[in-house]
Amino acid sequence: MISMELSTNKNLAYKIFRGIPYSRLTLLDAEQRRETNDVCPEELGLNDAGIYTSESSEAIRHLRTNVELLDSKSLFMHSLVALVVTKLLEQSGRFFISAEGNEPMTPSNEELIKTGALLLSNLLKIQINCYGVEHEMKRIGAGIYPTLSLVNHSCNPSAKHYTRGRNMILRAVRPIAAGEEVTISYTPDYLDEEREKRRKHLAEKYHIACECDACQFEWQTASKLPALMLKCFRCTQSVSGDLPVCYSCRLEYKNKSSFEDKIRFDTIAKQVDATFLSACKIAQNLMRAESISEEEYQSLCTATEFIHEHTAMPCQVIYNMERILEKYFTVER
Ligand SMILES: [Zn+2]
Ligand SMILES: [Zn+2]
Repeated sequence: MISMELSTNKNLAYKIFRGIPYSRLTLLDAEQRRETNDVCPEELGLNDAGIYTSESSEAIRHLRTNVELLDSKSLFMHSLVALVVTKLLEQSGRFFISAEGNEPMTPSNEELIKTGALLLSNLLKIQINCYGVEHEMKRIGAGIYPTLSLVNHSCNPSAKHYTRGRNMILRAVRPIAAGEEVTISYTPDYLDEEREKRRKHLAEKYHIACECDACQFEWQTASKLPALMLKCFRCTQSVSGDLPVCYSCRLEYKNKSSFEDKIRFDTIAKQVDATFLSACKIAQNLMRAESISEEEYQSLCTATEFIHEHTAMPCQVIYNMERILEKYFTVER
């Protein structure tokens, strides 16, 4: 016997379908098929003005389902849910109604099968494109935001997303160079979750084998990270303040011949410490008053840029800077 729970995603599918009568849904399906055949892949999902926005139905219609990557057991389970939701829609008396008016009609087998197939496709879209909606740090629902679906995953993401009312906001948590990919984490990131657990979740739900730095180099979670790792002057790889030599390029920091490098290294370490402490003071104001001034926010941004210029990931200082910015994002209106 299979136990099945109608979770948030399935409820979302039911709600979406209940609001669109069958006759309208079949028209939208025909439109999707026409667009898939007639529009080049790069332009699929753009609206009439040639823009990709979360508000446009075109963008939602052409979200990925990943159906070709599913194993038979997962496909079977999703099909069962589609069957149950189809039955619920049939019984609601609001989905199978005549095209002209609101008269309930009895669906044919063909109409039931078509509804189930469309539901299955949409359940799969929701499964991989659905984001939690939060209010005052509590999850209150879920939503589809096609623009955010364009952003790929990294366990060491360069940006974080959060809800503000009905909108989803995406903001950088560290400097992003021109041409560098903007990423978010589809799971708890490397700071909060062990590598194997993250990778299992990513493989099962999104069919992703993540190749980010945190996965490749097996970065530790936040509590096990070193306090500070500076960048080597020569090769920009990480150098611990306790070690006399860069492991990557062998530049010696505590050799007499490199005395100037050692002084420079210690000076930058002190500047990073001071910058981080000033950021922590702003964070204290933020925790106390749930708000900070525009100047304080600009100071946080400048501190983040300075710390990233001289500090190598992963280390506690960078972790704490990201958490300060995240706190600011969640409280600032
Ligand atoms: Zn990863
Ligand atoms: Zn080096």
